Order: sequence, then C-alpha cells, then structure tokens
Amino acid sequence: MSSTVSIVACNNYYSKEVYGSMKDSVDRLGGMERFVKKGERILLKPNLLTAKEPDRAATTHPSVVEAAIRLVRETGAVPVVGDSPALGNGRKVAEKAGVLKVCESLGVEFVDFKETFAIENPSGRFKSLIVAKEVVKADGIINLPKIKTHAQMFLTLCVKNMFGCVVGRRKASWHLAAGRDRMAFARLLLEIYNLLKPRLNIADGITVMEGNGPGSGLPRHLGLIVASCDGVAMDRVITEILGAKAQILPTVRLAMDEGMNLNYIETVGKGIDEIKINDFKFPPQMDVEWSIPEFFKKRLKKSLTPRPVVNTKTCTLCGLCVETCPAGIMEVGKKKIYIDYDLCIRCFCCQEICREGAIVSMEGWIGRLLIR
Ligand code: SF4
Ligand code: SF4
Repeated sequence: MSSTVSIVACNNYYSKEVYGSMKDSVDRLGGMERFVKKGERILLKPNLLTAKEPDRAATTHPSVVEAAIRLVRETGAVPVVGDSPALGNGRKVAEKAGVLKVCESLGVEFVDFKETFAIENPSGRFKSLIVAKEVVKADGIINLPKIKTHAQMFLTLCVKNMFGCVVGRRKASWHLAAGRDRMAFARLLLEIYNLLKPRLNIADGITVMEGNGPGSGLPRHLGLIVASCDGVAMDRVITEILGAKAQILPTVRLAMDEGMNLNYIETVGKGIDEIKINDFKFPPQMDVEWSIPEFFKKRLKKSLTPRPVVNTKTCTLCGLCVETCPAGIMEVGKKKIYIDYDLCIRCFCCQEICREGAIVSMEGWIGRLLIR
C-alpha cells in the first residue's frame, strides 16, 4: 500500500495562515478526526532541543504548535505539548522558543520530559528503549518536526525528531553507544520512531534551516507545511523537495534496505517536481563511493570527515558544549575550547547546544587549515 504525503503552501507564520494551511494539509489526509478521538490525551512533540528564538529556525515555530493545538482541540481531544532538550530545563527552552507562551495562553499543559519508562522492543536490535514516561501516558503522538540540516544525519525531519522522546542526557549515552557509525545511529532512530509510531507528522517547513545545522545554520524560506502519517515516506519526500536523493538520508536508506517500500508515495496538494529547489545548502558530507585501497580510504576518510570546529571569535567559553559532549572529549581552555578529534564521534551535540552558533561542521583538513 502506498503512503500519502500532503504538501501545502504557507508563506508566513501568522497564526491564521498557519492554521489554514495546516488544516488544509491534514484535511487532504482525511482530517484530524481520522487521527485523534474525543477525550484522548494527545502529545504534540515539537523540536525543542535547544534554547533559541523562533526566528533562528532551530526549533518548531510557536505558530505551528498553536495551529496543531487548535486542530486537536476541535476534535474534543486533549492536547499536551512536551519535549526534552539535550541539556537543562525544557521549560526554559520552550520559553525561549516561544512555545511556552502559546501553551500558557491556550491553557495547554507543557511537559518537560523528566521521568522515564522502559519499553520492550523484542523485534528490534535495541531490545529495550528508555523513553519519557509522558510519551507512554499519552493515547497518541503528533510529531511536529522542524525541517533542518543536521551535520551527522544530513537532515533532521520526522524520524530524527522522535529522538527527543529520549530524556535529557540519556541521548548522550545513545550517541556514545552508536559512536561514529552513522548507520548504527540511524537504526536506533528508526527503531524509536517505529516503536512510538506517531499517529501523524506535521512538519514546519515555512522557514527552514540550511547549511550548518542543526545549531549554526541559516534560516531559509521554503513556505511549506508537510503532513503524513508515514514519517519515513514524508522524510523521503522532503529530502527530494530540497533537491537531494532520498537515499542520502541514513534513516531512509536503512528503511529501504530493510525492505520498506518507499517507491510508491502519493503526494496530495503540491507535487515534488513543482516545488523542488536546487540550491539548498546541505551540511558538508563525505559519504562517497570509495574505490581506493583500504589504507588510503581510512586516511582520506579521517581528513575529510566533517568535524566540529569552534569559532574563537564568537565562542563565549560558556562551557555548555563541554557539558553536553557525550564522549567527554571537550575542554574549556583559557582562550578556546579544546576538542580531542581522535576521540570525537561526530555526533554534533555540541553544535546543537551552542547558543552563539559558534560551532560549525567542516571537512577535517579545511577546518584545521582555517581555524587552527
Ligand atoms: S562553543 Fe558555544 S557552547 Fe561551547 S563554550 Fe563556546 S559559546 Fe559555549
Ligand atoms: S566534540 Fe562535539 S561532535 Fe565530537 S563527540 Fe563531542 S559533542 Fe560530539
């Protein structure tokens, strides 16, 4: 059976416009009543991983959260909003992102994920996954990702956004467990997504982040709301709208390798070819086919693999990245942050957390030449 992805234009963040576009987009999938029922507790899961203002395009815009709250409420269901940042207090992140204000003005509970719950995952590679208790308490989840670039995973969309259901610093342990193996991390993300299975995904694609995401990229107008109950199919469609081959996304590649049929996706509203762009700036990548001897391959990989580089001009030495680093290989010096690149697992948690946008991902040797 083919999955359906709904793509609707939305040119700004005015509440009325976002609500109208989101309703149109969800109506094309059968309406919100198809996904939630009266009296159900529905968790809305935006991307609130780091404390940044809405116009930095790092978090799901408050108007998108507001429109989703209204649509859920109209069915008679009870919306709650929740997420867990990599570090610190979720309420503070939600406040900075403008989402707390929306919840307070609409009388909606905001939950900072703190308590955990272990879910059995017998058919997966990861047999038990510890996630936020609130996720399990809810009758259903609506996933509200922000379309952003991501240095490690290429893009952060529906599947990656559900990683926020892992509470706070536990995310770091998972990063550490996956190490530099991007496909191992993709497997974890896919298993979390499939286990928690949001009933619906609605992406904030109005102003997206391009370039050095997830923390230091630049906002770019895309003007879209995209929705689907199949997050993997939706990730494929979004990647293609941004002008890349979908297989470049590790989670999509893995899903296809595992036999998921993503060849027949129906789009409603706008078509991919109609809105596809060809100048979107992706993060530096080095995943190319290597037809050279193993010895050279390793050396080349090492010098080309994108790595986090701290800009000493904008770094305030606040130490947040050091606290976040899952590998514990960053150090605050008198004048700069030191990173042990031999032990760095390229997870880019440091970049995501940096409020100054002082960390960028650069290919190894370019980074060294330019910054050191
Ligand atoms: S790089 Fe960013 S998070 Fe790290 S110390 Fe500097 S300003 Fe703080
Ligand atoms: S330095 Fe940054 S990219 Fe490297 S392990 Fe630490 S947090 Fe991850």
